[in-house]
Amino acid sequence: MAFEGLADRLQETLRKIRGKGKVTEADVKEMMREVRLALLEADVNFKVVRDFVNRVKERAVGQEVLKSLTPGQQVIKVVNEELTALMGGENAKLAVSQRPPTVIMMVGLQGAGKTTTTGKLAKYLQKQNRNPLLVAADIYRPAAIKQLQVLGEQINVPVFSLGDKESPVVIAKKAIEQAKEQHNDYVLIDTAGRLHIDETLMNELNQIKEEVRPDEILLVVDAMTGQDAVNVAQSFNEQLNITGVILTKLDGDTRGGAALSVKAVTGQPIKFVGMGEKLDALEPFHPDRMASRILG
Ligand code: GDP
Repeated sequence: MAFEGLADRLQETLRKIRGKGKVTEADVKEMMREVRLALLEADVNFKVVRDFVNRVKERAVGQEVLKSLTPGQQVIKVVNEELTALMGGENAKLAVSQRPPTVIMMVGLQGAGKTTTTGKLAKYLQKQNRNPLLVAADIYRPAAIKQLQVLGEQINVPVFSLGDKESPVVIAKKAIEQAKEQHNDYVLIDTAGRLHIDETLMNELNQIKEEVRPDEILLVVDAMTGQDAVNVAQSFNEQLNITGVILTKLDGDTRGGAALSVKAVTGQPIKFVGMGEKLDALEPFHPDRMASRILG
């Protein structure tokens, strides 16, 4: 299960302080040394760890906390609140355009789960009584178009494709025209992925962005790749100004570093998490629930 090591270690550390009737500054420091190690071991970005530990210490050694009737519990409350804030605080909602359709560009590196996640998002929207249109704009990987068509059939969502002869920009624009005619309120564009971030990929994505003016650019990253996922998110954000992240494969035994670092490093929230290969395995990301899950 994801976060297992981190959750075990943090819970054990916090257990020691929970019941204490008296907590000293030294107790807090000792606890935060262990928290720091647990976070580093979970592959959380070291700057993120340093800032987090400093924030908790600053608040936890405050008079109201240590002099309270339940200092141990107050310290844990501070850890919980700061962990929630670290992951973005509130659940970051999907954009809704005032003038439908809402256009979402799905971007990411090959293998991250972009195409599957695009299908999952369509299914999620369908459940919210929305009427999405999927757009096959990954024209370089021949199987990608077919993959999206198969997904669309499974969930009964239309898939717009012009094969692999037209440019992604033309495909996206024509898809949006069709969506307006056929009253699709969301357009999900499955863009090309590559093995690495390169200029060709970014140029193409930027061109689609300029021509299509999407309401959201969601980056799909694989939680199993830890800090790599965070680095990928940082690069995409610098070059494309993404509006949010979808973290996939959180059902695996990821240590959790990506989930805890993405918001702090990139400034962009995790909007959804992928919890399995099935098409209904997509959940809105709630930082407070995730923090409580980790802290037990
Ligand atoms: P793309 O190259 O980024 O479009 O990646 P795909 O959508 O083809 O997905 C790559 C693999 O990851 C497939 O085998 C998916 O079933 C799998 N995958 C995607 N999301 C998840 C997830 O949340 N959990 C798990 N376990 N597998 C996932």
